[in-house]
Amino acid sequence: MPRTVVTGGAGFLGSHLCEALLAQGHEVIALDDLSTGAIENIHHIRDERFLFIKQDVTNFLYIEGPVDYVLHFASPASPIDYLERPIPTLKVGSLGTHKALGLALTKRARFLLASTSEVYGDPLVHPQTEEYWGNVNPIGPRGVYDEAKRFAEAITMAYHRFHGLETRIVRIFNTYGPRMRLNDGRVVPNFIKQALLGEPLTVFGDGSQTRSFCYVSDLIDGILKLLFSDLTEPCNIGNPAEMTIQQFAEAIIKFSSTKSDIVYRPLPEDDPKQRKPDITRARQRLHWEPKVKLEDGIASTMEYFRTKVKP
Ligand code: UDP
Repeated sequence: MPRTVVTGGAGFLGSHLCEALLAQGHEVIALDDLSTGAIENIHHIRDERFLFIKQDVTNFLYIEGPVDYVLHFASPASPIDYLERPIPTLKVGSLGTHKALGLALTKRARFLLASTSEVYGDPLVHPQTEEYWGNVNPIGPRGVYDEAKRFAEAITMAYHRFHGLETRIVRIFNTYGPRMRLNDGRVVPNFIKQALLGEPLTVFGDGSQTRSFCYVSDLIDGILKLLFSDLTEPCNIGNPAEMTIQQFAEAIIKFSSTKSDIVYRPLPEDDPKQRKPDITRARQRLHWEPKVKLEDGIASTMEYFRTKVKP
């Protein structure tokens, strides 16, 4: 039975990943300091092959026994979270990645890094291919996340080249689904919460900026395909169905049959103007592409948030 460590295992993506790995026959050890993750996301997992350890992964990681895979998913991941926690965000991407790589090296485990479309910054190439080096403001408010993840990619490739460690890098584009935090400030929980409460949807800027939203089950499927592939170069995983934030707000209003209208708020600094993954590499090398339609993904996400929203 493969033994797998997931850092950030109590987070939105980490918890879904733990479940998917258990379903594939792995023993899973989830590490999380619960700063943005929540026990609630994993407390339903009743399986003797699952172990949770509360730990800040920027500290030395000691795991007894063999480990076959280390998946590094610990990090604040929403713009509000990393604005509120700039230094922990930098530390988990840099020191945390170093510790997770060190664990993988000691155990000769395969390492997978959760990287991000934010490495492309406010992209000047559209859609974004993995060859694009990005357009990131290192000293802007998002720099703490973007640069930490860029460092994380660099140190991952260094461990691969220098130590011969088996590594994988997934660049995750906007993902949504159950277990996102209601108040993490991202557009999906914000709009759904507002729609469920009949409040106006807050579009930042004029709503012409674009994003491409991937449902969590599609993303997890892509990540596992990457993990078990031989692809060492970074790989975009996301849904290429691009839409403006204005169109997204209109879609949420339609799917929720709310009477909410739209209000406009200032655009946050360095907010990327467009984002859409080029998934040619994932299609060709992993035979992966997203399947869940926005309407269906939003319906199950809304069902989850209905249990969280208190009018
Ligand atoms: N956004 C918005 N209203 C909100 C929250 C976010 O219009 O209440 C916009 C935000 O400015 C960005 C997009 O939605 O252009 C996606 O934001 P999110 O925080 O979800 O993630 P990002 O892709 O920027 O990391």
